[in-house]
Formats: sequence, structure tokens, C-alpha cells
Amino acid sequence: MRFKWPAKLQGVHPRQNKNTANSAIEKIRGFDTVSIPLDMQFGPGCESLVKKGDHVEIGQKIGEPLGAWCVPIHASVSGTVKSVKKEILSDGTPVEYVNIDSDGKDSVSAEVKPPQVHDRADFLAAVRASGLVGLGGAAFPTHVKMNPPPGKTIDTLIINAAECEPYITSDHRICLEYPQQIIKGITLTCHYLNIPTAVIALEDNKRDVVTVLQREIDKVKGTLDYPEQGISITVLPTQYPTGAEKVLIKLVNERIVPEGGLPADVGVLVQNVGTIRYVGEYFETGMPLVSKIITLDGSAVQKPGNYEVPIGAIIEDVVEKSGGCRTEIAKVIMGGPMMGVSIDDLSRSILKANNAILMLDEKDATLPTEIACIQCGRCTFACPMLLMPTTLDKAARAQDISKLNDYHVMNCIECGCCTYVCPSKRYLLQNIRIGKTLVKQASKN
Ligand code: SF4
Ligand code: SF4
Repeated sequence: MRFKWPAKLQGVHPRQNKNTANSAIEKIRGFDTVSIPLDMQFGPGCESLVKKGDHVEIGQKIGEPLGAWCVPIHASVSGTVKSVKKEILSDGTPVEYVNIDSDGKDSVSAEVKPPQVHDRADFLAAVRASGLVGLGGAAFPTHVKMNPPPGKTIDTLIINAAECEPYITSDHRICLEYPQQIIKGITLTCHYLNIPTAVIALEDNKRDVVTVLQREIDKVKGTLDYPEQGISITVLPTQYPTGAEKVLIKLVNERIVPEGGLPADVGVLVQNVGTIRYVGEYFETGMPLVSKIITLDGSAVQKPGNYEVPIGAIIEDVVEKSGGCRTEIAKVIMGGPMMGVSIDDLSRSILKANNAILMLDEKDATLPTEIACIQCGRCTFACPMLLMPTTLDKAARAQDISKLNDYHVMNCIECGCCTYVCPSKRYLLQNIRIGKTLVKQASKN
């Protein structure tokens, strides 16, 4: 293990609010119904393999991928398909949903078997068949991320266990409760993808994880799959946004991903710790990705905690089964308070990429009124991507595509540090997101 204290790390120190760090993961089952969207990843979605009235079992494939970048979708409860119909996501996108009425039996499909893998191609095919996408929030198909373009060689696998967002502790609990599966996922990935080094990176507010993971690393040292140059643990200072992929790569091994480039350009593959845990588990059990471990917290929640729930469970039902609300909800956020997105109603489903649901009361949800910029420069100083947020904000408000490009808006990782530090409470991130959308639209024309 090594400790890394960079001379200068841009970012911020929001209140951590890791209220649920000691809450063991609790499985919640017994949902009467689930509503599974057939598009919940980066890239194209799936087409339905089932229709109204069909009986389905847990792990049965219900969505066939519509392209090489897509992964299949599986039933998360056993029961009867109530409907397959288009619904509108919070962001306005129409998506087909498979709605299943549970029979309460939780019977498992005969399709569920541990995969037989002999080489790299088998491994990537199995990862795809599991339905796995990045579980840290990006929902990028894992089999694509694990297979860099020709000519790129990966020499380091970084396991992202930083979990720098306030409130969220699901990855922390995964490290404490599933260390064997995490190390199994790492050794399998390194073995089949021929990666010689693995580094588990976490923040120093999770030191209890180090002993637990090191014990598991020691157990597999010298085995056939153990990476040539080993598995190490790097402890980083607690500072937001340590867990942002490009920031993490810079902190762990001093490499800088070029503008518009990928981690593979600097020989790195980054996987979220929940994703790699799932790889280890899938190769043991063969159970596709049908459940998700999430943190449920916020001032409106009665019993904050970490819960494992079926994918497609309705958020309202999850809250109800966890103990309900203590007060009226004013805002619901999918993800953390810095990078999460607010959703419009509780009838939304738990998706593969969800790692937290925050429910805030009126006091915590109220947005301050923005006032004029006082040119203090704090936003620029805080930006981990060395951008000029106030210039991007102005360019986005003016819909000035050329200026947005000149000031590298697409390099923004949407961390929200600029908005967090702004004394004038400018809606910087909100406008920069709009700016990125404008640039994307303009590039299509
Ligand atoms: S400009 Fe983007 S990357 Fe920079 S602090 Fe703001 S949100 Fe983060
Ligand atoms: S932090 Fe806010 S007030 Fe200061 S320069 Fe940036 S936008 Fe202006």
C-alpha cells in the first residue's frame, strides 16, 4: 500500500455526509412489480424478447441488444409480463419498458449458469452476456471499455473505489462485504486481458477497507491468474472529485489523458469497484446483472442505508420498503449531490447505473438565487480540468458555439466544483451542460 499526497490537487472539500458508511447492505425483495427500461446504458438499447402474458424468471434474457455496443437486459423478478410499452424518461427520451408483475417466487431461469471461458474473446463475450455496464454511474458497456481500439496496449488496471461524492457509501460497503469477489474480478480481468498491474485507488476516509482487501490480495498472490506485477492499494487524500476518471489516472500514475482521448491512450483501463466486484461474482454464479446496490439517504429519508434492490424496482416502493419518509420530499436526486441528476417523480425505476437516491426536504432542496459574477476567480481555481467556468457559462448563455469550443467545453467532466465554490451562486454547471449539448448538436449539423 502507498499513500499519495499530490503537491497540488484542484477540487473542493464538500461536507462528506457519509451517514451510511456503517450500514451493512440490506437486500430488499418482495416487490409486487418492476418496470425495466430496455435502454439504460451509453449507446443503443435493446428490443423486447417478451410480450404481454409471458412468464419470466430471474436472469432470463428479456432484451436483445440492438448493436455491438449494447448489452442484453434480464428479468429481475419472476412473474408475468404485464405490458411492453413506451414511456418517457425524466430527460424526455421515449424508451420501451417491460413491466413485470412478480409471482413472489423468485424462481431462477435455467439460462443462469457460470460462463465457460478459455480466452480473451470468450471473456469479453461473457462480460457482454452478463449485461454489465459501468456501475459507477457512466453506464458505458464494460465489454467495449475492456476492448481498446487496435494499437492501444493496457498496462494498468485502476479500480476506482474513491467514491468521492458526498453521501454515497455503496462502494465503501461493497469493498468491506465483497472483497473476495473484487479480487477475483481483478485477477480474471488482468489474466484474460493480459494486464500486468492492478491498482485499487481509494480515499483516506475508507482506511478500514485497506486491511480487508489486502488480506484477499495476499490469498491469491502466486496463483495462475495473479497479475505479473501485482495488485496494490493506493490511498489518496479525500478531496472531490478524486474519483473522476481522468483526475484519478493523473493522481494514481501521473498520466494525462489527452483532450478528447480515452484512458486507453495512456495505457490505462479504469473500472469502478462495483463493476469489478460484479465480474468476480458473475463468473462464480452466472447470474446476470439483475440487482443494484444503492445508497438511500437525504434529509427526507426515514432510514438511510445501503440496499440491494432488483433493477427496475420503482423508487417509491424502494423508499416505502426501506422505512418511508420522515417529511415531505422536495427534491429527488439520482446519484450524489455534485454530479447526480434530479428526477421528476418517484415512479421512476432503479437503473443499472444508479448508485444512490437522495431525497431532500424543502430546506436542503432550495436553490439559492444567483447574483452577478464578482470576477473572484474561485471557480477557475477549483476546476480540476483547468477550465474557465465563468467564460464557458457566459458563452453558453450567449449560445456562442465557437467560444465554447475555443475554451474546451467538452473537457468539462461536470463535477460541479465551480458551482460549489461560487460566492455569487452562479448556475455555472447547469449552463455549461447546456453549452455541451449545443456543441454536440452543432457537430451533427
Ligand atoms: S467547468 Fe466543468 S470540470 Fe470545471 S469545475 Fe466546472 S463542472 Fe467541473
Ligand atoms: S466563482 Fe462565481 S463570482 Fe467568482 S469568478 Fe467564478 S462565477 Fe464569478
